[in-house]
Amino acid sequence: MENPLGCCLLTGNIGRNLKKSNMEHFDYIIAGGGCAGRSLATRLLPFLKARNKRVLVVDKSTKKENDKTWCFWEDRTDIFEPVVQRKWNRLSFSGLSYDKELSIQPYFYKMIRSGDFYQYTNDLLTNSPQVSIKQGEVQNLYSEDKKAIVTIDGVLYSADYVFSSIPQAQEKDSQRYQYLLQHFNGWVIETTADTFDPSCATLMDFNTSQHAGTSFFYVLPLSPRRALIEYTLFSEEVLPTASYTAALEKYIREQINCDHYTILEKEQGVIPMSDHPIKREDGRIIYLGTAGGFTKGSTGYTFRFIQKHTSAIVEKLYRSGHPRVPPISSFRFPIYDGVLLHLLNSKRLSGVEIFTTMFKKNHPVKILKFLDNETSIFEELLIFNTLQKKEFAMALWKRTLKLMKADSL
Ligand SMILES: Cc1cc2nc3c(=O)[nH]c(=O)nc-3n(C[C@H](O)[C@H](O)[C@H](O)COP(=O)(O)OP(=O)(O)OC[C@H]3O[C@@H](n4cnc5c(N)ncnc54)[C@H](O)[C@@H]3O)c2cc1C
Repeated sequence: MENPLGCCLLTGNIGRNLKKSNMEHFDYIIAGGGCAGRSLATRLLPFLKARNKRVLVVDKSTKKENDKTWCFWEDRTDIFEPVVQRKWNRLSFSGLSYDKELSIQPYFYKMIRSGDFYQYTNDLLTNSPQVSIKQGEVQNLYSEDKKAIVTIDGVLYSADYVFSSIPQAQEKDSQRYQYLLQHFNGWVIETTADTFDPSCATLMDFNTSQHAGTSFFYVLPLSPRRALIEYTLFSEEVLPTASYTAALEKYIREQINCDHYTILEKEQGVIPMSDHPIKREDGRIIYLGTAGGFTKGSTGYTFRFIQKHTSAIVEKLYRSGHPRVPPISSFRFPIYDGVLLHLLNSKRLSGVEIFTTMFKKNHPVKILKFLDNETSIFEELLIFNTLQKKEFAMALWKRTLKLMKADSL
């Protein structure tokens, strides 16, 4: 079955015919020990100890490699502050004839290397007698009345609740919804002379061709001679590797003004950007992370939404003993995301036009709050008043028509 996330899928029937006698039971099973699974497991530790509960965390990979760099902004310190590698309270933005250095206080823009996060969470989780960590492939999940069943490498396990960040099977429905990809290649480079200002990160620099879709660079300075430079695009298809390489080389040469550097590390990734609703729960299975729809459709940011969701789950467990939580954001935000995606897809306005207007006409703190789904409706109206109202209204109308048309088929 095709999946908009483009990832592996659980197969459905495996496990239902396996023997259930002697099945090992846990209070909770966390299926997928990546960002969301480990965020939840770590937040659960005091609760597990206080209530003497047991959790199994299973992932098919050993999670030893540094496969991602997570950036996000927050105005407080949270439990993963010890692994924040760098943080900035000044960001630069370069759009259409507009360059600005922005103070984002009280926020800090933070960067975590996934390798540090896996190591840190591993140390905490393996030291807890309540936690078992297993490397194995989850082949199936299903919910029964009072428990959920998980098949791992052909063996059945049960739990009161399963938290899964393993991609769900979901067919594309292009009649109704928009599907874009945020795809990127990044290099950590070291230069031979002082080149970067480590006190200011580049959030978006649109000084690159917009030919292949909304395209921008992202620069995270780690020292005067070291930075992560990432070439990011929003479009329907990923590019051949050579195209990312050529764009990175050109940007470093022409915008960073640097000819002599060494590439220390490379990163690449694809994040789904869609307004296709995703099932958040299925009986005793609670979905987390990207698999649970916590990737913001219009930006791809996920890390902070994972933290908000997993904190809400733990709070709910303390208060009521069950982990079902109401949505962490207002219903308004998926509509805004859908409109923005529709606008980007329709090409009536380019990403550079939209983001330039947004940052030029609004305080950056308000924009960050808005992109975090935390503004009030009044604050949102003030922001909308500064945007290209005609194009946004048209996109809202067209998207609504698209949904209505698809419903009547
Ligand atoms: C390269 C990259 C950079 C990103 N940067 C940012 C960023 O800067 N800021 C931001 O907010 N978001 C970012 N994201 C988006 C998002 O935050 C990450 O994708 C994040 O890892 C999502 O967390 P997750 O737990 O949902 O998925 P994952 O972290 O991918 O965890 C899912 C886990 O499930 C495991 N798994 C899958 N199938 C099975 C199976 N059948 N059996 C057992 N285990 C299985 C996988 O091995 C994986 O460990 C980035 C994404 C990528 C790909």
